[in-house]
Amino acid sequence: MRSEEVFEKLKQWVEDNRSHTMLGEPAQYIPALANQDRDQLGICIMDIDGDTYMAGECDVKFTLQSISKIISFVALCHFKGLDFVLDKVDVEPTGESFNSIIPFEIHRPGKPFNPLINAGAITVASMLPGDTVDEKYERFLLFVEGMIGHQLELDQEVYESEWKTAHRNRALAYYLKESNLLDLDVEEALDIYIRLCAICINLKDLAKIGLVIAHDGYDPIEERQIFSHDVARIAKVLMVTCGMYNSSGKFAAHVGIPAKSGVSGGILASVPPKWHSPEKAFRKGCGIAVFSPAIDVNGNSAAGTMLLRQISEEWDFSIF
Ligand code: GLU
Repeated sequence: MRSEEVFEKLKQWVEDNRSHTMLGEPAQYIPALANQDRDQLGICIMDIDGDTYMAGECDVKFTLQSISKIISFVALCHFKGLDFVLDKVDVEPTGESFNSIIPFEIHRPGKPFNPLINAGAITVASMLPGDTVDEKYERFLLFVEGMIGHQLELDQEVYESEWKTAHRNRALAYYLKESNLLDLDVEEALDIYIRLCAICINLKDLAKIGLVIAHDGYDPIEERQIFSHDVARIAKVLMVTCGMYNSSGKFAAHVGIPAKSGVSGGILASVPPKWHSPEKAFRKGCGIAVFSPAIDVNGNSAAGTMLLRQISEEWDFSIF
């Protein structure tokens, strides 16, 4: 199939799925996110040559929110090693909400169930290399910027909005501190976690990150290993088992692509090579980023999820 046909199909599928924005609404609990235009739907797919296929509202910028959790997990594993990280957070799904504070969050022998729930993500963020919040933030930014090739910025409005309303996350952080799971004070741990959530990203950059994860930490465009195969393998396991909140099972069944969503309406997806995919352009794998701010009851972009489902079905992207 020629690339124009891929573009045409993507454009069509975006329009087919646009009405699904009605099945959700922008996250209300962070005031700056509640104001997003609910009707947007955009997608970017990046292949191993760095060619991008975009459709819908694809020039948008949005905050990483929970998508940062998989990236900070990868970054921490890269900097401090898998054993260090898996000693602090487990790799078990919970079945509880992402920001649950109930004691199930802390798994015997005393660590968060996984790094994609808030308890695990706050723990991971606090342990990034560096002595101060600024140093940890810088090291994280440099790691991500190394992957996408340019600088990233913080969305100050979203950061402040979340900081003012982070009561539950603050409570969680106190709980984690009491369990000796933080490498910082409570307010500092919360600060670094909220900064990571408020980093601004566009679809192309997110698709690039998805591509590197799909290729086991190898950047096929720059031809260099960014993080180890083992780290990428565990990241993909987490994306499949916990990446789509409490509908990770349904997403695995109907879409079958390792993915991580965030409450801003973004989804990062990593399609490993699939030699018999009917779409030749992506047989060597690809990274996908979707954005549509209306999220469903589970916290996933409503139209974004349906668009990924259609793409996976049409191009046989499921890893199962
Ligand atoms: N900053 C958000 C929070 O902790 C991230 C939530 C999300 O995207 O799931 O509430």
